[in-house]
Amino acid sequence: MNKADSDRLCSALDQLGLTPSSSRTEADIVVLNTCVVRQNAEDKAVGTLTSLKPNKEANPEKIIALMGCMVGPKTEPLERRFPFVDVFMRPQQYDPLIDLLSERLGVDPEGCIGPLSAAPSVSTFIPIIHGCDKFCSFCIIPYRRGRETSREISEIVYESEMLVARGVKEVTLLGQNVDSYGHDLSGSVNLSNLLAAVNEVKGIERIRFLTSHPNDMDDSIIDAVGGLDKVCEHINLPFQAGDDDILQSMRRGYTNYEYRKIIDKIRCKVPGVSLSTDLIVGFCGETDQQFESTLQLVRDIKFDKVHSAAYSTRKGTIADRKMIDNVPEEIKKDRLRQINDEQEGISTEINSRVLGECHEVLVEGTKDGRWFGRNRNDKLVFFDSTETEKGDMTIVKIEETSPWFLQGSLYNTKNGSPDNPINS
Ligand code: SF4
Repeated sequence: MNKADSDRLCSALDQLGLTPSSSRTEADIVVLNTCVVRQNAEDKAVGTLTSLKPNKEANPEKIIALMGCMVGPKTEPLERRFPFVDVFMRPQQYDPLIDLLSERLGVDPEGCIGPLSAAPSVSTFIPIIHGCDKFCSFCIIPYRRGRETSREISEIVYESEMLVARGVKEVTLLGQNVDSYGHDLSGSVNLSNLLAAVNEVKGIERIRFLTSHPNDMDDSIIDAVGGLDKVCEHINLPFQAGDDDILQSMRRGYTNYEYRKIIDKIRCKVPGVSLSTDLIVGFCGETDQQFESTLQLVRDIKFDKVHSAAYSTRKGTIADRKMIDNVPEEIKKDRLRQINDEQEGISTEINSRVLGECHEVLVEGTKDGRWFGRNRNDKLVFFDSTETEKGDMTIVKIEETSPWFLQGSLYNTKNGSPDNPINS
């Protein structure tokens, strides 16, 4: 979400005639887009911000802006703590900086924030719903990003068309909880309607969405993933914990059994789907046995990828106010290690199954002299080729696998080759 917000702001700055600088100290404007989902992210943001202070004192004309989740509804405490910061902006609140710059530069800010103006990459993000109404007990997001607000389907379709005109082929529809998209709009629209509408946009070749919530992942969304040709077979469905009591104290609203049922349904309706998840170890009061349920869920479901984190208290959350963070750090670390070890084995096994297959890969660029892109299952694929360009939709034969990525060689370009075997 922060990446999408940063891209949008970059685009607005570009429209105002500004150009990127590679140096923080030389830049006329520095915008720090912050994440506070974990304590270490916030500490990092504070460290970076503090390091900018001497530079600002030596160059009073320089503009420093603090943006994102670190900026809550009330900015006075931050203003007192960081008096050298010129502008404070909540997530998606770009106006304070745009207005200041327009005034200094004497330009009209009208229309600055809109579909991206700068050349984006072949794959980009489109925020479709802002905020979250769920208030999971460990999470700070609803307090910082506010309540859910969906964008109109027509606006998102228009933005997709604009992006196609600038070379984009893959869009990821973004939100803290994309599955609840549309509930606040007039008419009964939901994510499946939006997916169907973007599926019709000429030039968009792939659609993804992120992140889902088990309580809002209804049949229509699963059917859309299974039935719409451009929607990729990949779903990130966080489960957070395997034990029902922990799930309840996290205020997640589902049980281990209900989560498994949804996964069964997805696998049944979307053949070949890849699944990823988010989980937290060491939540307040988590016993060894309760952690074991989390580990068992990882073993049983066999996700393609697991994003795991050790619990850390975020000030102001329900867990911070009402529960005790009583699992020792060494135990959290050990549980994290157990999850990661288990998952490494599972990912190794899952990825090894595609050895020798041909996969459709959207080429995103080069790294260390090799082309890279993702297959429809969202797996990173590296390959060698002399006849490839960024933005090509290619067919790559997988010749080596690892838990983290796949490697292969160019089999063919997809365009004009209907006989090419894909995933065969
Ligand atoms: S659904 Fe996600 S963003 Fe919303 S409160 Fe829960 S963890 Fe946070």
